[in-house]
Amino acid sequence: MHNKEYHGRFAPSLTGPLHVGSARTALVAWCAARHRGGRFTIRIEDLDEPRTISGMMDRHLNDLRWLGIDWDHGPDVGGPHAPYLQSLRLNDYQTSLDQLHSQRMLFPCILSRKDVRELTSKEPSPIYPAHLRPVNVSPNWYEEPQSDITIRLKTPNRQIDFVDAICGPQHQNVSTTVGDFPLKRRDGVYSYQLATSVDDLNMEITEVVRGQDLIDSTARQLLLIDLLGGLGLNYAHVPLVLNSDGKKLSKRESSMTIGALRNAGVTSEVFVGYMAWTLGWIPSPLPISAKELIQFFNWSSMSHLPDWILAQTLINPKA
Ligand code: GLU
Repeated sequence: MHNKEYHGRFAPSLTGPLHVGSARTALVAWCAARHRGGRFTIRIEDLDEPRTISGMMDRHLNDLRWLGIDWDHGPDVGGPHAPYLQSLRLNDYQTSLDQLHSQRMLFPCILSRKDVRELTSKEPSPIYPAHLRPVNVSPNWYEEPQSDITIRLKTPNRQIDFVDAICGPQHQNVSTTVGDFPLKRRDGVYSYQLATSVDDLNMEITEVVRGQDLIDSTARQLLLIDLLGGLGLNYAHVPLVLNSDGKKLSKRESSMTIGALRNAGVTSEVFVGYMAWTLGWIPSPLPISAKELIQFFNWSSMSHLPDWILAQTLINPKA
């Protein structure tokens, strides 16, 4: 029976094949939902079209199925909040943007990233301070926008606090850490921060489980959700799988894709068992199915785990 309250999700981008790091995060997100008897949604994040690779969605879904993950709602099965591809949900993002505009929270920005960097001398990703907001803005700028403007949020000076299930208490004042961040880019693409916040809100997600590389985005998303009238969600940011250089696995590291493991003859039980061991859920890396793993789900072992793993040992752990 489903716990109606809990609703988790996994939201892959299609900029490369599913690699072991994302697969491990997907397993954690899925176990978190199933352990609580909750619902699980797959949402495809394909807004960044130039970087989205065709055919990648089916590969992702096949790889997730191979892992033993199933979902109640998703691009292939539909659901109450369909469609589950961000490229088909543009009306939702526009409606939320309109709402923020009616709350006078937006402004048009003609500066490029380079301009902002030069004006603020911050590297590599500049903070956009409130004093760079344009002073003379046409009253119709939103209804009749110039081309080549970025729509930014007038970020309020407010501290956002949340308790991450893995990383513990977090505090961030977005106005000083990132400043006025973009909601719609100059090429017309809605930003990741806006699209993810709107989707998590509109899809009634109750807990977001994703990689630790995104923990910094959470305050921005909680702020947007709050401005849009939503309630805060729960968050858990899973340690990343790192390569032997201690860096995040890149989508280009093809040896670390689920496809490569499958081709090398690794079974899903071997992979799942190895991942479960790296998460501190089972005492040794013995094969186990995703379904059997649900009972071992917990957050506490993960918080003690060092956030590095030599992923190369996966294909041949004894080498
Ligand atoms: N699409 C992001 C990724 O593939 C995840 C975004 C999220 O979970 O909020 O890394």
